[in-house]
Amino acid sequence: MIENFVPDIYQKSIYYINYDKLYKKGIRCILFDLDNTITPSHIKLPTKRLKKLFDELRDKGFKIIILSNAPKHRIDPFKNYLNVDACSFSLKPKSNKYEKIMEKFSYKPTEIAAVGDQLITDIYGANKLDITSILVNPLTSKDYYVTILNRIIERFIFNKLNKKELFLKGKYYE
Ligand SMILES: [Mg+2]
Repeated sequence: MIENFVPDIYQKSIYYINYDKLYKKGIRCILFDLDNTITPSHIKLPTKRLKKLFDELRDKGFKIIILSNAPKHRIDPFKNYLNVDACSFSLKPKSNKYEKIMEKFSYKPTEIAAVGDQLITDIYGANKLDITSILVNPLTSKDYYVTILNRIIERFIFNKLNKKELFLKGKYYE
């Protein structure tokens, strides 16, 4: 179903998301995608701005987990510097890692939000499990090989959603 690709929330970047509103809705854990969501895909270390955001979110009472399909060596510098939990090789949109996180930390799907830049992995993966899905614009147009293929399929889905008036790029909503 094409509706499974529609994000619950759509914002320009992670810095535009209304986190207070998420907290009021009962969200206590935020899963962040890594590449092109919290960092450009070719950058090896996090920025101070990102560290500041994550520290603020932690102070607000959120648990933060980086959930990425990238390998461990790619994620580790971010995990360590930002002092957060992380899952590598997540195989999003498969449900396994999401379910493991819910089980390990005892979260219900209604307590989790997942932020990412891709419909096929981040948004579909979250929607399948009734996790609040949040789409942000990709930080760069540089993608890995697997993602290049996903982007081609994604373009097709975006067009279809557009035709059905279910989603319009650049029309942000919370
Ligand atoms: Mg990504």
